[in-house]
Amino acid sequence: MPTPFYFGTNLKMNQTPTEMVAFVEQIAASLTNPQFPITPRAQLWVTPSFINIAAVAGLCAQHNIWLGAQNMHWADDGAYTGEISPVQLKAVGANLVMLGHAERRALFDEGDDAINKKVLAAERHSLRIMLCVGETASEKQSGTGHAYVTRQLTEDLAGLRDPRGLVILYEPVWSVGSSGVPADPAYVTEALANIRRTLQGLFGEAGANVPILYGGSVNADNCANYAHLPNCAGLGVGRAAWQADGFLTVLGEALK
Ligand code: PGA
Repeated sequence: MPTPFYFGTNLKMNQTPTEMVAFVEQIAASLTNPQFPITPRAQLWVTPSFINIAAVAGLCAQHNIWLGAQNMHWADDGAYTGEISPVQLKAVGANLVMLGHAERRALFDEGDDAINKKVLAAERHSLRIMLCVGETASEKQSGTGHAYVTRQLTEDLAGLRDPRGLVILYEPVWSVGSSGVPADPAYVTEALANIRRTLQGLFGEAGANVPILYGGSVNADNCANYAHLPNCAGLGVGRAAWQADGFLTVLGEALK
């Protein structure tokens, strides 16, 4: 297992600011508990709803927890009703942005062209980028899943100058969410190797160092199956980590 091991949760459309503060406080308390020696082995991250970012920015900074948004617009400002800009995110303490999550792509029609603009905007504003990629069930069944992910990476990352601020979160669409099916670790091994090859093709040597995380129905029972795979630098957890107890349990199992 590489150090650091990147571990975090995408909270999706859950939590109020008060609940989010309690969540981060409980996790932070464990960081300083000698019975639960996470640091310096793990780099934790959270992506709360926009409205919860400011409430936990101080706590996250104090405990070196990366704090990200789940999406953003690519423009710095302007007439884009309902959108949030990279400038606004940085002003409230975010240092990361998740882009291209499967739910954004499927439910909100986000295409690779828009995701690419967001990636370049994040680089311009020195926000860490957590780019989500993953194939759908039909691509997997037709044997084109890895090629699909290669195309996503190529299009989404076009023009990115420096991959040092980049993290890839591989989440096969068919494994995400309450109707998702946990992936076979052998399949994930192939998929991660394909992502590594693609990153090296795009960025040369620097592509070897981009952390690749795995996500999709990860829980306390299956996390160890993924955490130790070659090319796996960490995990992205949804449902199983939305309560601090769950977050800490999955993390503890993954680090074993
Ligand atoms: P899940 O969500 O763990 O609930 O499948 C993962 C994600 O969407 O990042």
